[in-house]
Amino acid sequence: MLSYRHQFHAGNVSDVFKHALLSRLLIALARKDKPYFMLDTHAGLGLYDLEHPWSQKTDEWQSGIARIWERTDAPEALQPYLNAVRAENTDGRLRHYPGSPRIARKLMRPTDRLALCELNKDDCATLKAVFANARHTTIHNQDGFSAIRAFLPPQERRGLTFIDASFDQADEFARIVRSTKEAHARFATGTIAVWYPLMAPSAMQAFARSLQGAGLPKTLQLELTVHPDDWTEHIRGSGMVIVNPPFGLNKEARPLLDWLWQALSPQKEGGTRCDWLVSE
Ligand code: SAM
Repeated sequence: MLSYRHQFHAGNVSDVFKHALLSRLLIALARKDKPYFMLDTHAGLGLYDLEHPWSQKTDEWQSGIARIWERTDAPEALQPYLNAVRAENTDGRLRHYPGSPRIARKLMRPTDRLALCELNKDDCATLKAVFANARHTTIHNQDGFSAIRAFLPPQERRGLTFIDASFDQADEFARIVRSTKEAHARFATGTIAVWYPLMAPSAMQAFARSLQGAGLPKTLQLELTVHPDDWTEHIRGSGMVIVNPPFGLNKEARPLLDWLWQALSPQKEGGTRCDWLVSE
């Protein structure tokens, strides 16, 4: 039973964080001429109407993308992501928010291949409509975790597996650790990016330990927290683990995350993290 619907959360602080980093990963992959492949295991709708009643109900995007999309002082590294959002809102009013598939396709070259998995039948139908006629893009109404077996390794031998699970099941952290191991075993040189919500410190320590014991190569851990540790309204922040990150991402990400934290934490609570979980 799928209870999670991303329409409630589109454009929130976690989306800004994950999509800003996704854009850097794709730009790094495009530095070489050779085409690459991206698997988005949990794709969502592709494009979100922020005037939808579910978005209006939570208003989460107001404390996320609405705070930064028109800022003129954003760092250069954030521009591709902000431009992808602006491209959906050319009349100057923020109404549409692009999800990971839409941001990816915008930054990918015509020859790069994108596979999108979305288990929710209705959301997958919307995703198909958003990508009608898109070249080198396939959409699959299937479990994203099992898609790792179906799609990896890709014929291109270069690429990104993006795992953005909905965390509506008790064992989701264990499942993403297993899937990360599996993705690496099948495609050792590929980059794997895994988004996660920040939960109780003990759960986060257990997650970090199990990744460190998973036999992974160099792995970066990035986090953006905008609320204090005892925050209970919704998640206080989120993180991304990146296996085989592109060269220089750690140096690039630090100022980017610091800028986002300044912009998205008006009370100056929480902070950022940019550390090697598994070092070089
Ligand atoms: N990646 C999207 C983005 O950044 O725009 C957001 C994805 S949202 C966090 C998670 C999505 O995964 C939801 O749309 C949910 O329906 C879908 N989902 C849940 N379990 C799934 C599974 N096992 N396989 C594929 N999709 C799943």
